[in-house]
Amino acid sequence: MRIARCAPAALRATVLAAVVAAPFAAPASLAAQESSHGRNGLDVTNYALTLDLPDTGATIRGRAVLTIARSSHADTLRLDLIALHVDSVLVNDRATTFVRDDTSIRIPLPAGGNDTLAVAVRYAGAPSDGLIIRTDSTGRWTAFGDNWPQRARYWIPSIDEPGDKATVTWTVVAPSNRRVVANGELLEETPLTDSAAPVAMAGGMTATTERAPRTLTRWRESRPIPPYLMVIAAAPLAYYDLGRSACGRSDFGGCVRQSVYVLPEDLPFLPGPFAQADDIVNWFSRLVAPFPYEKLAHLQSLTRFGGMENATAIFYNNESFRRRTLSVGTVAHETAHQWFGDAVTEETFADLWLSEGFATYWAMLWTQHAQGDSAFRAGMAAMRREIIASPVTVARAVRDTVETDYLKLLNSNSYQKGGWVLHMLRAELGDSAFFRGVRAYYLAHRNGNARTDDLRAALEHASGKPLGWFFDQWVKRPGFAELTTSWRYEPATHRVILEIDQGSRFPPYRFPLTVQVRDAAGRSSRTTVQVRPERSQHITLPLRLDAAPASLRLDPDVTLLASFTER
Ligand SMILES: [Zn+2]
Repeated sequence: MRIARCAPAALRATVLAAVVAAPFAAPASLAAQESSHGRNGLDVTNYALTLDLPDTGATIRGRAVLTIARSSHADTLRLDLIALHVDSVLVNDRATTFVRDDTSIRIPLPAGGNDTLAVAVRYAGAPSDGLIIRTDSTGRWTAFGDNWPQRARYWIPSIDEPGDKATVTWTVVAPSNRRVVANGELLEETPLTDSAAPVAMAGGMTATTERAPRTLTRWRESRPIPPYLMVIAAAPLAYYDLGRSACGRSDFGGCVRQSVYVLPEDLPFLPGPFAQADDIVNWFSRLVAPFPYEKLAHLQSLTRFGGMENATAIFYNNESFRRRTLSVGTVAHETAHQWFGDAVTEETFADLWLSEGFATYWAMLWTQHAQGDSAFRAGMAAMRREIIASPVTVARAVRDTVETDYLKLLNSNSYQKGGWVLHMLRAELGDSAFFRGVRAYYLAHRNGNARTDDLRAALEHASGKPLGWFFDQWVKRPGFAELTTSWRYEPATHRVILEIDQGSRFPPYRFPLTVQVRDAAGRSSRTTVQVRPERSQHITLPLRLDAAPASLRLDPDVTLLASFTER
């Protein structure tokens, strides 16, 4: 597959075009916690995951202890786990019979309700997906988690839904010549010496001493994240320090430690596209809110995507390091996801644009910050061309409740059009209300989940404007404005009459339209008019002109998602 989840080929081209066009120059609220939903009133709040990785081959042994908040009287827990052998299940430390099928484990629960349960699953096998285990051409064994959208279930017993977020502790025993990196903060890196054999592991497993020297590594992510972001890397990775960013603007106090983990032969690539990683985190933490996590690591990995925004441990595709093609635009996109997608997670994949649209637009905002307005406008114009050319835009709404193959949601609706929706909201509301509303949305749903209507409500509150009409036409139905226009000058009134027809493919749109008028001497003036959702209309521009204009330019700031045809 060549899907690049977080930097589709078209979008990478966009970012490159923009670069060419302009030379380089608080603690979570209770409400946020409650917005996540489990399964039948069973909500995983913590995963304690212990993995024993092999020297060779793909067979892993694991123990998962799930802390589950039961808000119902549910008597059965269904966990997702594909194919791997389940050795035993304990509920509150008592061995329990369970029903295993190819994709799930059904676990009977003791009678009760509104309580907390500890469910421990001991399992083993060779994951066919999710944890990607490979030996490279030089014989190095590596393993990388790659879970989106629902592939955590290939190696983690879980409620594998974006709406069930949880904290996670990783305890990984692996050969000492592989570095283990995971979500959150590093708690421990302990060599297990031969003399200590057999070594008791956290989950009660033992590590034998017949293998190469081994090391126990523990990481802890103390903020709830969805299973699709829970990953480890185990590979002979070299560490490259990017220093400290956003000092005073981290949810954990102090600064955000940034680093890159790469295969040793690719160290000469660095800092490469990470030279501006510091600037990116600084800028986003000012624009939105303090950085939400313990650290930010960037890793060369075996993700199938161009980049994958795993919380605190962004995985980039191996090839983009080897070929030196990884772009700063991809780094900005994945970094933006730490706020949008990771800290605030779409409740279901129907709202994927709340993750991808934000990351796409925030990467463009970084372009605007770093390279200026003309690069930004060129990038937005290129994205608009991609949206208009895409068959998906015509067929489906951005908020796509129809598609069940989530990989197909990695399309121009979720990315480019989602980004454009935010761009138009910013134009509609103005910078002040737009960013105030986005911050309020972020803070209300941080460490929880959100839906499209949550964003609408936050922006309505910030701006005092009802936005149901906006979301209906831009997010909840397919299409874009198709405009055919003409104009004429009326000498008697000194006015220009603009005629606008909206095509019949989509219902007509309502939008503000900026018009720039240029006279024969090259002087320009501009005005913004409100276009009604009607098939055909005449609008008299509120500009008094002494003579017929030399030209009219529509949407000079590139803030309207429309195709323009002059009659
Ligand atoms: Zn993305």
